[in-house]
Amino acid sequence: MTPAGSAISLPSSILPLFKQLGLFEEIRRLAKPFGSVVFREENLEIIGSYSSRGPFDVKERYGEYPQIIARRDLCRVLMSQIPSHKIKYGKRVLDIRQNVGEVIVHCSDKSVFHGDLLIGVDGAYSAVRQCLYNDLDSKGLLPKQDKTPMNYQYDCLVGVTEPLDPHQNTALFDKFSDLQTVLGKASTYSFWCIPLTEFRVSWMVVKYHDKGKKYAEDTLFKLSDWGSDAAELMSYEYRGLKTPYGCDLASLIDSTPPGAMSKVMLEEKFYKTWHSGRVVLAGDAIHKVLPFGGQGANQSILDVLTLANMLVDLQNNTVEDLRVLFQEYQKLREPVGRSILQLSNHFGHVMNRKGWFNDLVRKAVLFHTPRWVHRMSYDKFTYDRPQAVFLPFTESGGSFPAKPQKRSAYTPFSLDP
Ligand SMILES: Cc1cc2nc3c(=O)[nH]c(=O)nc-3n(C[C@H](O)[C@H](O)[C@H](O)COP(=O)(O)OP(=O)(O)OC[C@H]3O[C@@H](n4cnc5c(N)ncnc54)[C@H](O)[C@@H]3O)c2cc1C
Repeated sequence: MTPAGSAISLPSSILPLFKQLGLFEEIRRLAKPFGSVVFREENLEIIGSYSSRGPFDVKERYGEYPQIIARRDLCRVLMSQIPSHKIKYGKRVLDIRQNVGEVIVHCSDKSVFHGDLLIGVDGAYSAVRQCLYNDLDSKGLLPKQDKTPMNYQYDCLVGVTEPLDPHQNTALFDKFSDLQTVLGKASTYSFWCIPLTEFRVSWMVVKYHDKGKKYAEDTLFKLSDWGSDAAELMSYEYRGLKTPYGCDLASLIDSTPPGAMSKVMLEEKFYKTWHSGRVVLAGDAIHKVLPFGGQGANQSILDVLTLANMLVDLQNNTVEDLRVLFQEYQKLREPVGRSILQLSNHFGHVMNRKGWFNDLVRKAVLFHTPRWVHRMSYDKFTYDRPQAVFLPFTESGGSFPAKPQKRSAYTPFSLDP
């Protein structure tokens, strides 16, 4: 996961895993529990809101409130758990080859790695996916759906401020993070303010391209930019926006240190081919979703957890054994990935489409969705709260029982580095 950018919401479905790994207390120290999201017109009038404490209490039902954490802080917590000698920095994968017995990875610095299998979790522009697909395409084995580029409909400017003065904005004192979303009236943007710990605010402006754009993958890669120049340029367009904190966006932008503001393209696509031979894909490399559902990183982690849980019981590592395992992995993860893609796409439309009809839809969705629909959709995505099957389980908590899991009989390795 790249460290730049904004905030990450860790939903209740993933928190038992963090508890099991002994990371939850650190996460809780660095994060705020999600309180609510308030939707506003451009003139800041409230359209509707959704709270984690009503009409039903998320913690009571699923064990924990989602946690809102700066992306940078989450990366730091995760990295702190991996012995440094197990991470190789500055490696850019250029090519992968495989034969019956092994997979071979070639990097730009001419280093070469050999392995039994390769898990490609290298993001939306995955080099592993591109190598795999080129190979399949040359053999006439790549489905048509996997040859089309990602759908690109949004540009996004994100940043995290330095600590602000909470006396100027008392919302920053709140224990809970109450998200404020302003929906542009005439122009096609939405704007988010997300309070973080240490009186920081993560903010995000999303610009919607009505017709959508399609670029070839390498063009998308070149256009995609987490760098500061493109961000600076886009920021001029939105400095005058009024925020619910009584200041202009300019004030938040100016409180954002250099390097903590990025411009990102938001694409979406669901790929059909998840594996071939000894190579398997996970995360954004295989299901790139819009950030409106707050689910992308969560799903990447759950993909990899699913693989780890299956690999621990693998008896043989022949290509055939791996094919069976990867097929089972795809069968388990594909339906969730598809639902998340649809959900995030739907949220994006509700928040960003313009015109009287879309205004009506927006009001209906934000104001009149019955509480049982909210709960049903939450239940659907929170029933599965998986943990590592090769470690002692921890209590998921909540009145809504989690999907049962079977412990692996096999404890594969000592947890010491
Ligand atoms: C503005 C915004 C807000 C978001 N908010 C949320 C949220 O609240 N909750 C949530 O769950 N998700 C959120 N997401 C989505 C989330 O950030 C992504 O879904 C998640 O980071 C995907 O993780 P990943 O590991 O699959 O890919 P990435 O995070 O993209 O990581 C890929 C890694 O692979 C490396 N890499 C790439 N190419 C190569 C190569 N050739 N060789 C070697 N290494 C390579 C990259 O350097 C990177 O470290 C948000 C996204 C955006 C843009």
